[in-house]
Amino acid sequence: VTALASGEPGRREQGAAVGGDAWRAALETVAEAAEAHAAEADVRAAFPEEAVAAMRATGLLGLLVPRVFGGYGGDVRSLVEASIRLGRADLSTAMVFAMHCQQVGTLVRHADERLRRELLPEIAVGGMYLGSVTTEVGKGGRLLSADSPLDDFGDALALDRRAPVVTGGRHADGFLLTMRSPAAETDNLVSLVFARRDQLTVEDWGGAWDTLGMRASDSGGLRLRGRLPRRQLIGRDGCFREISIATFAPLAHLGWSACWLGSASGALARTLTVLRQERRGRAGADGSELLAHRLSGVRQQLDTVYALLAHCCTLVEREQDLSRPRIQLMLNALKLSASEATHRAVEQLVEVVGMRHGYLRGSPTRLERVLRDLRSATLNFHNDRLHAVDGRLAFLDPGVGFAETATAGAEGGGPAFFPKEAL
Ligand SMILES: Cc1cc2nc3c(=O)[nH]c(=O)nc-3n(C[C@H](O)[C@H](O)[C@H](O)COP(=O)(O)OP(=O)(O)OC[C@H]3O[C@@H](n4cnc5c(N)ncnc54)[C@H](O)[C@@H]3O)c2cc1C
Repeated sequence: VTALASGEPGRREQGAAVGGDAWRAALETVAEAAEAHAAEADVRAAFPEEAVAAMRATGLLGLLVPRVFGGYGGDVRSLVEASIRLGRADLSTAMVFAMHCQQVGTLVRHADERLRRELLPEIAVGGMYLGSVTTEVGKGGRLLSADSPLDDFGDALALDRRAPVVTGGRHADGFLLTMRSPAAETDNLVSLVFARRDQLTVEDWGGAWDTLGMRASDSGGLRLRGRLPRRQLIGRDGCFREISIATFAPLAHLGWSACWLGSASGALARTLTVLRQERRGRAGADGSELLAHRLSGVRQQLDTVYALLAHCCTLVEREQDLSRPRIQLMLNALKLSASEATHRAVEQLVEVVGMRHGYLRGSPTRLERVLRDLRSATLNFHNDRLHAVDGRLAFLDPGVGFAETATAGAEGGGPAFFPKEAL
């Protein structure tokens, strides 16, 4: 409790035995902290410091860190379950967590052994919260290109990066950044590099994060400058495209979609509670056909997103080559569908309960905040960009098959996404 209250990292000893379910207790602690402060954090557009302190103190920041490095050894499904749970409590907190885990999963799978040994134990004891720097002024959300170069000084690389949107960036202890490779002649040879905060000069840049929703994610812009040892490149120089296909994009689509689904399903659960309570006072208040019809539509959309999410989890866990068009299309469909359906479902809940519980800030349904938060979902890697990609991918699968998991599998010989021996 003391460690939680003070936000000290490292309450869990490195390498301490952690049971298979221990992370779920940590998750509940974090979710409670998120829930307790979410309303105020939204009003003040303040970072969810209490919840992140709880992530540090309980070791939840190390959910995906293999057990040999002191983490919980969680897998893709743990990430999804945790993101749904946190999404139910507060979408900003959930996004902060899911995006951190996307960076951790990338380090686990692509950093070299020395960097893994250095960073993963630190993450497991709560000492390193990671921000993600991919968006850039000019190129916007184009993930697989970079304008800002890494300057090559032999053993050292220098960077000067303006990042207009960095979730939790002002609070991060380190960053994974996409940069133009020193060897690049065009903007699409992109490298991924790790930087500790204390290796950089970090300045607020581009104005305050004063937004419609996701206010507590504190995703304001930063300018980051510094010199890094070359060994902090993740994977080979210029190979971010491969990292993105294998790990970075799949974890983003799974994590974000889980956060959005959690947020919308929490909204439905609270709405059902309110409707039940009101029914107690007024016989037959739930009897309207229109109400049943609308609630059914909301539930249907959430179940559909869940089914897609579960299918994509299996694909990511079992398929060796995620670059195949059918798989890319399915993973993109998850992001597109989840971002649209969860927002639409909450919009419909507003119609179900009307003014008092759908539009007023103080309602226990919290629909007003959830609706504002979920409005960001289509913009968080703009759906227009994904549709443009998918339109081209569709031509690569002219027979219109669908990504199934029958061909390969962990049991069928394909390696697990996070190999078991590393857990
Ligand atoms: C809550 C939140 C958190 C975020 N956190 C981070 C973070 O931690 N790190 C980070 O790097 N980024 C982050 N982002 C940035 C995000 O992922 C987007 O890249 C960023 O918002 C750029 O969005 P944009 O609207 O400028 O879209 P862009 O993708 O730059 O597009 C700009 C406009 O062009 C249109 N457009 C784009 N592509 C096409 C096309 N091919 N055809 C036609 N029209 C097109 C779009 O409709 C859009 O209106 C975050 C965003 C949000 C909302």
